[in-house]
Amino acid sequence: MKHRIRKRRLLKWVGLLTCALLSLAIILTRWGNIAWTSGNHWGFFQWGAVAFGYHNRVDDFRWDIEWNISSGPLFLWFEYQPGTPTTASCFIIPLWLPLAMIGFPTILAWRRERPLPPDHCQKCGYDLTGNVSGVCPECGEDIER
Ligand SMILES: [Zn+2]
Repeated sequence: MKHRIRKRRLLKWVGLLTCALLSLAIILTRWGNIAWTSGNHWGFFQWGAVAFGYHNRVDDFRWDIEWNISSGPLFLWFEYQPGTPTTASCFIIPLWLPLAMIGFPTILAWRRERPLPPDHCQKCGYDLTGNVSGVCPECGEDIER
């Protein structure tokens, strides 16, 4: 019981943190981009999206971070940009999609949290049915009855 509550609480916070980071990425990538290259794979975060693609040439691994003052339009949907013999191809995934996929269950998880039943420790969730000591055996909390 206690374990399951801890796990759910952790998932809620991890979900919230992931959503915060994705939102931050959507905002920040309007003005900057982070690109990486590894072999003939490459990708970037830019304009509210993450993209993955292929180069025709093979490069050493490297990161490129650029800040542009001019903001671009956000990518709002999937986009495939086919490569040519001189340019790279890429598949663009808008970041609001993982944000929605993680954000929706996170909101539900936060909403679902209700106060624990009165016969459970309000601090750790331990089932105190039949407890006579007045102290939670799991965490040592004084029990108000
Ligand atoms: Zn307790």
